[in-house]
Amino acid sequence: MERLQKVIAHAGIASRRKAEELILEGKVSVNGSVVKELGVKVGSSDKISVNGVPLEREEPVYFLLYKPRGVISSVSDDKGRKVVTDYFAHIEQRIYPVGRLDYDTSGVLLLTNDGEFANLLMHPSSEVEKVYVAKIKGIPSKEKLRSLEKGIRLEDGKTAPAKVKLISFDKKAETSIVELTIHEGRNRQVRRMFEAIGHPVMKLKRERYGTLTLHGLNAGEAKELTPHEVKQLR
Ligand code: URA
Repeated sequence: MERLQKVIAHAGIASRRKAEELILEGKVSVNGSVVKELGVKVGSSDKISVNGVPLEREEPVYFLLYKPRGVISSVSDDKGRKVVTDYFAHIEQRIYPVGRLDYDTSGVLLLTNDGEFANLLMHPSSEVEKVYVAKIKGIPSKEKLRSLEKGIRLEDGKTAPAKVKLISFDKKAETSIVELTIHEGRNRQVRRMFEAIGHPVMKLKRERYGTLTLHGLNAGEAKELTPHEVKQLR
């Protein structure tokens, strides 16, 4: 048995807070009767409706995909391009990506049907560490790397402190490989950070998301997370 608001949140239609509001507003019914108080528990055979619409309940599932470049982080694309959920055509649950990687970015991408979990991880207060490895144009000075570390002004505000490691550089090709660890997840953040110091990104890969790495996976391969791995992310 699980709390009603948790089941609604898991179905992905509302956060747990919003689910509580829906219950208090009398918009939720269980087996045909309106439930207006919090704390009611339901089992897997109970029929729940929200605003008169039956709730489709699914077992929560969690996958890690090694997203290749050239794939959209979405469940559909109006231009018919490949999307990340194409790799999961064989599973019956309707999963979606937790956040996004750019079309040209590869690496760790989490997918789930657990709306509450996804909201938690995508919330700005989420402390999940994301490690990116970027191939950039040019060889950055120590000062420039230091400025990324301290936080740099972007058009949507200053970035939070980050960890930066120069992995290698190629004087002839005039390129470098830099590892950048951030907690935030703003749109195109890593690309914009490197652009801001005058070293545009040529190639970008997310190597780690919290405790999850690409270990044992090739691009385009996925694995289901263990309950322990899911717990570690919460
Ligand atoms: N930052 C970016 O610039 N792109 C991504 O795909 C992820 C983080």
